[in-house]
Amino acid sequence: MTNFATTAPLSARQAVLVAPGHLELRDFRPPRPARGEVLVRVACALSCGTDLKTYRRGHPVWKLPTPFGHEFAGVVVEVGEGVRGFKPGDAMMAAPTAPCGICFYCQRGQENLCAQTMERMLMGAYADYLLVPAHVVARNAFIKPEHLGFEEAALLEPLACVVHAQEMARPEPFESVLIVGAGPFGLLHMLALRARGVREVAIAGRGAKRLEWAGELGADRVIDVSRNDSEGAVASLNAGFGPDLVIECTGQLDGWQDALRRVRRGGRVVFFGGCPADTTLKVDTRRMHYDNLTLLAPFHFRPRDVKRAFEMLGEGKIGAGAIVNARRPLAELGEVFSMLERGEALKCAVVP
Ligand SMILES: [Zn+2]
Ligand SMILES: [Zn+2]
Repeated sequence: MTNFATTAPLSARQAVLVAPGHLELRDFRPPRPARGEVLVRVACALSCGTDLKTYRRGHPVWKLPTPFGHEFAGVVVEVGEGVRGFKPGDAMMAAPTAPCGICFYCQRGQENLCAQTMERMLMGAYADYLLVPAHVVARNAFIKPEHLGFEEAALLEPLACVVHAQEMARPEPFESVLIVGAGPFGLLHMLALRARGVREVAIAGRGAKRLEWAGELGADRVIDVSRNDSEGAVASLNAGFGPDLVIECTGQLDGWQDALRRVRRGGRVVFFGGCPADTTLKVDTRRMHYDNLTLLAPFHFRPRDVKRAFEMLGEGKIGAGAIVNARRPLAELGEVFSMLERGEALKCAVVP
């Protein structure tokens, strides 16, 4: 890509979610970056499950109307005073959040729980231009390696979530892992496990297309949970002992219960997908204790996970770009969400 302007324009387009299901493409004047900030010309923004949920129902924290989109990569057009490491013309990639570095949680290395992480999340990547705030520039932004495509670079944030979860779960090469849910996160987990050399990776999910993609991207076993024999197929994993590790990626209570039921004695369950509010998991205390289960519930990511995700993308072994299997112009953003609802893409690249 060589045709990027490297000066801030007077006018550009930005998608604004006005009400659930109602998008407007508005003209806006990209702001000049203040101290520590960077103005980026968006090369692509990726659709994300959170965006789809927000589009349908609004969001408990983000008040409407709001610009949205948070997975992106682009080219720097202008930098604020004091910015080091970025200059106009640099291709860059970033996570949309960054911790404060000084609070109770940050001091304990649990930056994923820092209040600033969620309160000051970067939104507005569905646009021609995006202002990257100083706290993100300082901690979770990187120069994009030249050999890495913009679409794959924009996977930095979801991959950082996956890295954090797998850092807690510590999958071993000799293990058998079951992923519950064949959406973008399930498949990203699978690709990361593959890159770590895990022996057997099975995916249990629903939807003919998603299951087909899971197989194409390298799952050893693809289990259709809508079929009667799916219980038996899971139980037969790992020479009949059941999976050593189960990673739950549906964010639905029945997925959580399912994950808990299917893990082997002595195994680990990672509850990766956040459930709707006010849901309660039922745990058989007898099984929890006598089967020596380990339950893990990773949330978000820490700067070290973003750094590791950046390295993995740069190493080029994970092949994460394969989960971006559709692309549409910014003007068709509404159609992107309909397409995702119909299950016709895993992730869509929205290209200004
Ligand atoms: Zn996301
Ligand atoms: Zn903090």
